[in-house]
Amino acid sequence: MHTPEMLAQWDRDHYWHAFTQMAEYEPLIIDSASGVWLYDIHGNRYLDGISSMWCNLHGHCNPVIDEAIGAQLKKLGHATSLGMATTPAIELTRRLAELAPGDLNHVMFGSDGSSAVEAALKIAFQYWRQCEEPQPQKTSYIALGEAYHGDTLGSASVGGIDRYNAIFQPLLFNVHRLPVPDSRTLETDAGPQLFLGQLESLLAKHHEEIAALVIEPCIQAAAGMVFHPAGYLHGVRELTSKYNVLLIADEIVTGCGRTGRMFACEGEDVVPDLLCLGKSLTGGYLPLSATMATTEVYEAFLGSHASGRAFRHGHTFAGNPLAAAAAFASLELLTSEDVQSRLQLLIDQLCGILHGMDSLPHVSEVRQKGLIAAVDLAPGGSKTAIYPVDLRIGQKVCRDALKRKVWLRPLGDTLVIMPPLCISAEEMAFLGEVLHESIEVVTQQQQ
Ligand code: PLP
Repeated sequence: MHTPEMLAQWDRDHYWHAFTQMAEYEPLIIDSASGVWLYDIHGNRYLDGISSMWCNLHGHCNPVIDEAIGAQLKKLGHATSLGMATTPAIELTRRLAELAPGDLNHVMFGSDGSSAVEAALKIAFQYWRQCEEPQPQKTSYIALGEAYHGDTLGSASVGGIDRYNAIFQPLLFNVHRLPVPDSRTLETDAGPQLFLGQLESLLAKHHEEIAALVIEPCIQAAAGMVFHPAGYLHGVRELTSKYNVLLIADEIVTGCGRTGRMFACEGEDVVPDLLCLGKSLTGGYLPLSATMATTEVYEAFLGSHASGRAFRHGHTFAGNPLAAAAAFASLELLTSEDVQSRLQLLIDQLCGILHGMDSLPHVSEVRQKGLIAAVDLAPGGSKTAIYPVDLRIGQKVCRDALKRKVWLRPLGDTLVIMPPLCISAEEMAFLGEVLHESIEVVTQQQQ
């Protein structure tokens, strides 16, 4: 039996954590979990307020998903998807095709969100070389300022957050970058026309060389849960269709029920040409992602072996049957009447909680779509001034919340609330109270 002290030492000595300054790292070692609660090796419990980095849907150790994985494990742990299939992976492709909007009928699996976006970029590139009217000069992409689509070189190239990408710039390909369509920068109730005008100017000039536009539909997550103005996504679809550019919807955060709908695209009646899913696809249990393609895109890849039209891409563990079984079970739960009716109640409760925070003196804005919420902190609640970056106010609030047994991770000075859908009304109230207190305590200390 390894003691907590031994584990903490080995964690420091050997474990290189993602996006973490290891010189400042303080071990927090999770041993078990149940529902919304994470239990550390000392027996402390923490409410998982961001669904384990935005991916857990139905809570930890959910009996339905556990059972689905356990049953599958007794039959088959893994078999390749190169030239063969497994039962759960097939069943999942059919279910996803049923649930997705329009004729997004074809699913290429990957293991994480970055690889789903990477596949979508490559599909778009290859598509224009072999579609009915080939346009091989279409080799570039449009992406949004402050976008985040992953960390592999392709997905990072379309990403627009400098603090992640600047150091790798010499390795990345150039993209056409649009200004962030941040609804906070518009007059209240102004429509998306300003941002759509910027897109149209770009398309009018460069559409002949552009293969695809990639976008996080409605909410740019890592940018700080930036909300686009209503109607923007719909306008983007119209313009990309008009100028013959493929639309890639990165629903890795917004997909699978998070916004209150199965897919954020549906809220604006949009069918993209390619749709990427990850994170909560398996209920946040196992690594699995999907790149879904319309029939038109898929058919451009059909032909004889000699035609060389097959998609030149794939990963060893893509479509893993354990992950596929978890995903199928998670989607069944998500579409069940029980979850759907509780979801609306939780969304309403979260709305009330945010309303209470909006009046705190150092909160500048609160935003919510479904079970995704953001609270912006700024001195005196200013809409223009920000805290000095070195103060790390967001980080301090989350540290304070951890002392009060709630686990959160900020995006700069934006606090994110994104609990698992299984959260009870009492647990949601506790999450709201803790965050309220932590914001008050930490922001008052800065005065
Ligand atoms: N796309 C979006 C919108 C994301 O927020 C993320 C991760 O946060 C990714 C892609 C990359 O997913 P992963 O970390 O699973 O590679």
